[in-house]
Amino acid sequence: MLFQDIIGLYEVKNTLTQAVQNQHIAHALLFVGREGCANLPLALAFAQYLHCEQRSPNDACGRCAGCRKYEKLVHPDLHFVFPVAITKKVASKPLSQDYLPEWRKMVLQNPYFGLSDWLNFIEADNKQGNISVEESRQIIQTLALKTYEGEFKILLMWLPEMMNGQAANALLKILEEPPPKTIFLLVSNDSKSLLTTIISRVQMVQIPSFSDTDIQTYLIHNQGVSPEKAQDLAYLADGNLSEAIRLSQESPNDNHILFRDWMRSCYKRDVGDLVSKTDEFAALSKDAQKNLLLYGLGVCRESLIMLANNEKLLRLSGAKLDFIRGFAKTMSFEKIEFVYQQLNEAIYHLERNANAKILFLDMSLQLAARMRN
Ligand SMILES: [Zn+2]
Repeated sequence: MLFQDIIGLYEVKNTLTQAVQNQHIAHALLFVGREGCANLPLALAFAQYLHCEQRSPNDACGRCAGCRKYEKLVHPDLHFVFPVAITKKVASKPLSQDYLPEWRKMVLQNPYFGLSDWLNFIEADNKQGNISVEESRQIIQTLALKTYEGEFKILLMWLPEMMNGQAANALLKILEEPPPKTIFLLVSNDSKSLLTTIISRVQMVQIPSFSDTDIQTYLIHNQGVSPEKAQDLAYLADGNLSEAIRLSQESPNDNHILFRDWMRSCYKRDVGDLVSKTDEFAALSKDAQKNLLLYGLGVCRESLIMLANNEKLLRLSGAKLDFIRGFAKTMSFEKIEFVYQQLNEAIYHLERNANAKILFLDMSLQLAARMRN
């Protein structure tokens, strides 16, 4: 991964390359940002920059032996640690190294993925992934080896917040007495879940979420999406590039009509219709269900902006804007907030393989009960 392959974020890239140029490299960096931001791609680009044999002031060369190994993520001084779970492939005590081929494949396909994408990819079903204490023992062994080629060994840990308590304490010990010539790159979506003692030992690099324009540019250039569709998808994805890519690969469901009619039935408390809608939603693919809920979150956000009298900030137009005007007019701030929470929770449970029929029916009844109170 080269810095130039990542859209925008010039300031962060500049800080990172400058640190290397000035030989002011912290021994542990924490790349933090929301899911779907460029924290993992930037950590990879930084690692490649460190291992590049002919780096320029702004980027790795992309051609040297080190860079070529990075193209396949097989550089011998680059080590990965990430959450894993028990699957058909690994029936007990899974370690990152057991899933290294899958990890490389996933990262090379699209490095903007989130935890649930990863766990689905390794077919962990609805198990929770974690980074175990066995893994931290493995880390100590790995780092005891001398470097093969480069000046530095790099340990890239994706989602350190998934370490259990023992593993976190073991990592803390390593960070307190780091092995020589070792750089730790921690890539987190939720630094608040990390031990403060770990945070105090790392240099924090905050990665902002992508702007709508960044996402549109990426979709148009990398996914061949039309400018109009890119605008719609960027709006749905709300800064999450992984979500935007996934949406661009979906067959086009008309989420606007599905969501609009659903909300109307909730408002009318038409239980018969809500039951049949629940069947209809349950028959959709899991991705399509999630898209519908995401669309709903977007509607709630826009309605709240509308209620705050800030129509200029709205991102939609036409029939969709008309619906939002109506929705905001019928609902109070608190009710929209309630819908937002319900949709958000539903996404959470859906990602953990909740039963869609029960989930949609339960949510419909909750919304119906609340909307006209
Ligand atoms: Zn190079």
